[in-house]
Amino acid sequence: MTRDEWVEVCGEALAAEGIEHFHPLEICDVGRLCAESSPFPARRLRVPPVYLLSNAILLCRVLLDLRSARRPMPVRVNSWYRDSSYNHRIGGVALSMHLTCGAADVVKAGFTPAEVADILEDHPDSDQFGIGRYQRFTHIDVRGMIGRAAPARW
Ligand SMILES: [Zn+2]
Repeated sequence: MTRDEWVEVCGEALAAEGIEHFHPLEICDVGRLCAESSPFPARRLRVPPVYLLSNAILLCRVLLDLRSARRPMPVRVNSWYRDSSYNHRIGGVALSMHLTCGAADVVKAGFTPAEVADILEDHPDSDQFGIGRYQRFTHIDVRGMIGRAAPARW
């Protein structure tokens, strides 16, 4: 699937679910380059299998809740889907939730990463979440909603 085909297929899926504010290229920035570093060749991010879109939609709903919580502000996505070779190249863990389309590293405009993590803790489904606190972003995933052990915190 090309980048354009992904935008069309994923865009239709999001529209069918009534999901606004998130673009297919935020879920998977098809073709994004992971820079070369010897001895590894550069990798370009590949399209996720279409069956993973349902996981992305579960996460979209959580991110929309995050967007509207306290004071509505955009949620910027640093990293959402990663294919396995891309994940390996950037040092992601082997069973990363990013491989499932059900995880994203995010920043909410006007809020610190710690505040974002606190908002996610207050979500009614937070016992289904993985939440990772980092200095510059917050990791959120919906592991419990797709059959993985939950919750997880780090
Ligand atoms: Zn992450």
